[in-house]
Amino acid sequence: MHYVSTRAAASAASSSPQQFSDILLGGLAVDGGLFLPSAYPQVTGAELDAWRQLSYADLAFEILKKFATDIPEGDLRALTAKTYTKEVYRNARAGEKASQITPLRVLEEGPNGTKLVLQALSNGPTLAFKDMAMQLLGNLFEYTLAKQDAELNIFGATSGDTGSAAEYAMRGKKGIRVFMLSPHQKMSAFQTAQMFSLQDPNIFNIAIEGVFDDAQDMVKAVSNDLPFKTKQKIGTVNSINWARVVAQVVYYFRGYLSATTSNDQKVSFTVPSGNFGNICAGHIARMMGLPIDKLIAATNENDVLDEFFRTGVYRVRKSAETYHTSSPSMDISKASNFERFIYDLVGRDGERTRALFHKVETQGGFDLSGKPGSDGDEFKLVSKYGFKSGKSTHDDRLDTIRDVADDYGIVIDTHTADGIKVARENLEPGVTMIVLETALAAKFNETILDALGEDAERPQGFENIEDLPQKFVVMKPDVEKMKAYIAANTGL
Ligand SMILES: *Cc1c(COP(=O)(O)O)cnc(C)c1O
Repeated sequence: MHYVSTRAAASAASSSPQQFSDILLGGLAVDGGLFLPSAYPQVTGAELDAWRQLSYADLAFEILKKFATDIPEGDLRALTAKTYTKEVYRNARAGEKASQITPLRVLEEGPNGTKLVLQALSNGPTLAFKDMAMQLLGNLFEYTLAKQDAELNIFGATSGDTGSAAEYAMRGKKGIRVFMLSPHQKMSAFQTAQMFSLQDPNIFNIAIEGVFDDAQDMVKAVSNDLPFKTKQKIGTVNSINWARVVAQVVYYFRGYLSATTSNDQKVSFTVPSGNFGNICAGHIARMMGLPIDKLIAATNENDVLDEFFRTGVYRVRKSAETYHTSSPSMDISKASNFERFIYDLVGRDGERTRALFHKVETQGGFDLSGKPGSDGDEFKLVSKYGFKSGKSTHDDRLDTIRDVADDYGIVIDTHTADGIKVARENLEPGVTMIVLETALAAKFNETILDALGEDAERPQGFENIEDLPQKFVVMKPDVEKMKAYIAANTGL
């Protein structure tokens, strides 16, 4: 299995073949594109039948071995077995079996043959779906670094879910340190406590006096200093990381196989979306031959993706046009994984993809509607890939949280509420609709309190998290000070 850049010229694609381990620790390809397999591995009906009975860890092994062909199978099996255990994904609620890792819960079977199902992806250590991939990444990184006798210093900025998922995946791992910036006193008390209560010597929490963009700018400034970056062995774990995307492919297979008894039954997925990482994995599962009917992107008020899937126009927003919403992990101005889908949509033409995303940088977007003056007419092919979309607002979110509590007796988080709202608009007779639950309600309690007048239930062990001792430093947004801090702590 070889990987190509979404921006590679046809001639370049074959000249520098990269394997899974080559791209594991990196981010963007050198030409600024994203990595994808040179062709999607295909899954047969017989394989799907055989996979129905597998545990999550064994299913993950079967799928990952098609992508990570340069990792010995015995090693890969040990890595998935260590990652997907009921001890790691232990926050299952009443009515869910932790051993299933991503248990399904039927919410409603309509009289006309519709079915609405929730797939829990948030039972890991940080109560959000990012643990599904990040926990595997932690184990893959540790394994690969040990083999190369190398070390890695992960450096990033977070406004919440990604940073904590990364820290819980990397804590205590040999050869890895995490330096995570966050805006000082801007995260919720729960999210702050989750990160800052980690006492592991390889985790460094740095609260920046400013907003998230100040922290993000520091990361860019430090990363642009290439000699420093190389000397300090700096890497990232952001959502474009290929291993994260591929780890997420597994739960689409698990969801489909758990919801059906034969491969001609129809299943659609609705996915609360921001950076397009989660739903991109669904696209890849579908391209591998998993019989997914529709893939529905649900956005909040930041509707960059919904706009594209309704009109064919991709128009990124400026920071000032990005809303701070009550589903904050979907507050994005551009969708960093979207280029992977566009590459497939334009027939895997790297030069075309490069030109379109150059236009995003210079003119803020592109138009594939086929209208006069547009950049192409590929929008007409979108339905062939199963994509649809919808949008949800703060009021929809509150209504949906109330409805779901009343009708089905469970409390969902704000992002999942956006998913349910959009899924309900897209129910079809004879098709099971699976909504991916991307976080547990306890993480976004402020809005739950508004919607229901009572607190969300906290999983065991999180009751007094705000009272635990916290370890962090506060820093002004000063790039030179940041570099000195990193160097002092890596000793490199
Ligand atoms: C990250 C996140 C999302 C958005 O996922 P993308 O892969 O960025 O589309 C949705 N919900 C929650 C809770 C998240 O943490």
